[in-house]
Amino acid sequence: VQRLKSHSGPSSASERGSNRDHRMLEALLGVTLLLQSLCVAHAQAATREVAAQLRDEMLRGSRAWDILDSLVTEIGARPTGSPAMTRAKDWAIRKLTDLGFQNVHAERFIKKDAWVRGSESASMTAPYGRTLSIVGLGNGVPTPAAGIEGDIVLFATLEQLSRMPAESLRGKIVVVDEPMVRTQNEEGYRSAVRVRVEGPSLAATRGAVGFLTRSISTSDSELPHTGVTRYLDGVPKVPAAAIGVPDAQLLARLVARGTPVRVRLLLSSTVIAEAPAWNVVGEIRGREAPDQVILIGGHLDSWDLSEAASDDGAGVAITTAAAALIAELPRHPRRTIRVVLWGSEETEGSGAAYADAHRDELRNLIIAAESDFGASRAYRLALPETSASSASEELIKDLEAVLAPLKVFVRSEAARSWGSDVEDLRKAGVPVASFNQDQSHYFDVHHSADDTLAWIDGADLNQNAAAWAALIYILAETSLDFRAVEH
Ligand SMILES: [Zn+2]
Repeated sequence: VQRLKSHSGPSSASERGSNRDHRMLEALLGVTLLLQSLCVAHAQAATREVAAQLRDEMLRGSRAWDILDSLVTEIGARPTGSPAMTRAKDWAIRKLTDLGFQNVHAERFIKKDAWVRGSESASMTAPYGRTLSIVGLGNGVPTPAAGIEGDIVLFATLEQLSRMPAESLRGKIVVVDEPMVRTQNEEGYRSAVRVRVEGPSLAATRGAVGFLTRSISTSDSELPHTGVTRYLDGVPKVPAAAIGVPDAQLLARLVARGTPVRVRLLLSSTVIAEAPAWNVVGEIRGREAPDQVILIGGHLDSWDLSEAASDDGAGVAITTAAAALIAELPRHPRRTIRVVLWGSEETEGSGAAYADAHRDELRNLIIAAESDFGASRAYRLALPETSASSASEELIKDLEAVLAPLKVFVRSEAARSWGSDVEDLRKAGVPVASFNQDQSHYFDVHHSADDTLAWIDGADLNQNAAAWAALIYILAETSLDFRAVEH
């Protein structure tokens, strides 16, 4: 229109005729633009309607539950580097294929130093004999075959341990009895997990020969919770385990009485220098912009203590079910939806391997999101900030309208937490989104033998899958670019 208007002020007859043409073109263009905006409004209403139907269909069925049941029952625990992980990879290929995904394949990578648990035991040997409930920490070194025995020194918090002078714990077994705070978000975990991750090296720099952390758990169950520890370079690596909450409390009560306590600890583990691992991928190819990818998924690997229903069978089931429902639509959304079932989250490696292998494609990844917070209800969607535009405002309105009945609100601000498998993509500039879930009870069972299907609520699982289906459908129908942030 601007270009046509600039041709004003003709004088000759032919120019006057040309001016008439211009006016006609202008009018036609106006009508076209009006029609286009009507079409856009119409298309947008249709998108919202389809998203609402996907949401409601997901709430009715048991799609997510069936996938979760299949994974935890037919495969069970699936640590990276184990034969079970190979079976999990084959399961994922079969499942994605059966559910109608396209381009289903496994992307192989090498997991370095895959950690494999051996036999473990612990007991209190003084003031009286008692078996202790412990579990070795991932990446932890074994004890000598005969085990170790020593007097314990117990700290109420990691901070107290960190204030001890060098050499002050020579030959001791350090116990940290710091409780984890129950919170709705992951804050309680982020704070408590430092004991497990940093504690062993803090103890070793002061001369300790072993380390026990009270389980990073919000439950009072006897079952201990595992998870990785990280040794500092240049510090002796000491055997490290988590101890069940009641046992940690017993040790603390004895120490409070001034009673000397001795503990015996036997941990064995092996390390596979180079283990094969896989990210398993399936796609719903986009009808108009197949190269633009909405990337979602959960992690296929797990700890070895349980069937790992919530961490992260739930994330696998939620995202796979959401995408599979969209695969059933007669018309695929504009953009491609890609499900990546990550192969080494717990002991790291899958996110980095993927980001590395897809370096040339990162610009095409519109948004990435991982479901790795269990199966309890989602309550908040964190979308990447976008430049304020009518398109982004409309997108937020659509998402608010479709997610409100699920009791999920929407925030267009950078997510504060996301699955660790998308961390390398995020660092490389890929926008990430995240659903916050109520984690009040997630850490009751997380990384313990109690992480089973018995703890999963089918309605909550469905609520998540419904929210994801609506989200990814709307994201795949829009043409919004989340990288275009203006400050
Ligand atoms: Zn996880």
